[in-house]
Order: sequence, then C-alpha cells, then structure tokens
Amino acid sequence: MWGGNVFEGVRAYWLEADRQLSIFRLRDHLARLRRSAKCMRLRLQHSDDELEQACVELLRTNELAEDLHLVLVAYLESDTVWRTEETGIYVTAVPMPRSNAYQRGFAACISSWRRLGDDTMPPRVKIGANYQNSRLAQEEAIRNGYDTALLLNQRGTLAEAPGSCLVMVRNGRLVTPPGTSGVLEGITLATVEELAAQELGLELERREIDRTELYVADEAFLCGTLVELQPIVSVDQLELGSGEPGELTGTLQRLYDRAARAEPPYRQWATPVYERVEA
Ligand code: PMP
Repeated sequence: MWGGNVFEGVRAYWLEADRQLSIFRLRDHLARLRRSAKCMRLRLQHSDDELEQACVELLRTNELAEDLHLVLVAYLESDTVWRTEETGIYVTAVPMPRSNAYQRGFAACISSWRRLGDDTMPPRVKIGANYQNSRLAQEEAIRNGYDTALLLNQRGTLAEAPGSCLVMVRNGRLVTPPGTSGVLEGITLATVEELAAQELGLELERREIDRTELYVADEAFLCGTLVELQPIVSVDQLELGSGEPGELTGTLQRLYDRAARAEPPYRQWATPVYERVEA
C-alpha cells in the first residue's frame, strides 16, 4: 500500500557440474533488509535463519534448476502507514538468465531526474517507494533511445543508475561515488571491491565523480545483483575509451562470475539449496 515496503533482490545460480543451486550472498541481503526496515521504522517478524529457510524451501519445493532472481518483500500490514511498524513478508523467484548487454555494454545518458536525497528518503537502503525515482529515470532514458540512465545527486555529482551502482576506471584506478553521494549500499559493489583488492591488488576509491569526469573516463561499468557487471560504452553519446567494453571491466566480470558461481575460494558467499547426495 502506498509503496509501503522494503525489499531485496537476490540471485541464485545453477551450478551444472555440482547439480546444485547456490544463493549468492543471501546473509548480506538479509542484513540490508534489516537496515532498510530500521531506517523506515518497520519491524520484521522473522529471524535471518527463518528467512534463509524460506528462500531455500521455495527453491527446493519447486525443484528449480536454473539461474534465478529471488525477491523478498517486507510490506506494511496495515493501510494506516504512519501508525504501524508491523510487516508481513513474501518471497518470490523467477528465472533470470544473464542480460545480453553483458557482452556488448550499455549506452547511458545523464538523466534529467536527480537521485532522491537523504533529506527526502533514505537512498542507501532498498525501499519500494524509492523506485518511482528510478522508474522515471529509466523510462526517460529508454524513450530517448538509451539503454540506461545515470542520475546525478542533489549536489550535481554522479550517484548511480536506476538499479545499479556506478564504477569508473581512470588511469588504471577504480573509482565509485561514496555512500554520501545518494547511492544504495551495493552488495555487488562490495564484492567487486573485495575481488579487485584480493585478485588484482587494486583499491576501490570512493569519491565524488563529476559528469564530465565520466565523459573522459577510460572505462565504466554498472554493478548490481540483477545486471551483475555491465559495461558502459558511451555516456550522452560520447564513447568511453575505445567505445568497446573495457579490459579491466572484462577481468572483473570474469572474477565476479567465479565468485557468484561459488568457485573456490569463494564458497563463503554461497547458500546451497539442495542437500548434497554423496555418490
Ligand atoms: N542501486 C540501486 C538503486 C539498486 O536498486 C541496486 C540493486 N539492488 C543497486 C544499486 C545495486 O545493489 P546490489 O549490488 O546490492 O544489488
């Protein structure tokens, strides 16, 4: 009712070699669901263990065996939205193959809509109502012939895309807007940060990014649970670098794929759905 919910989008990956379905970073998503509920002064009725069990049972009972997108929605139980903190919760799962823009990349524009500010709604958490802001930006971008939008924040520096975080590569450095730029605290971004540090010895710098600095970046990509890592090949019809998906972006895509698909040493992020049957 009235956008009265907080939610999470989570991916599960089908691992053919193991005949296993693996939920990626579920505990981190549940932790963010709690942060969203806290900011909106809502009470969740279930523990993380119970919610994890609900996700596993949903997938197991339906005998699902493909890449999926799970959504957990904690919604206000009453329509008197300002007088209650009680919530119900539901979980859904739908098949979600990888986007075909994963290889070719996205043409992005700077949106005429600004990202909502922390003095209006909390942008750092996942609140259903925030996505009307995202929807306006994405609809405008598509209508104007682009694949996606990038939103500036209230100060006029870059925030993020309608459903993913932004990373820029400049002179071999990875840069992303800080949490105070009106961005969601992204779990994919945190994964990228960890992989870049561990595997490539590269630090993810968090600092403000101007619109024109992005124009002259060498590479850029979006990262989010749904889009995974998506190259941006142009901004406002200006090509980034060669106009092709960037090299470092490609390297990080491959590393992320290994982590998301629970390859060693990245098993710690995986929640297996099916009981292991020993041969
Ligand atoms: N920003 C917004 C507005 C989003 O909806 C998402 C997707 N949840 C992200 C960023 C990326 O967050 P995550 O990597 O945790 O999915």
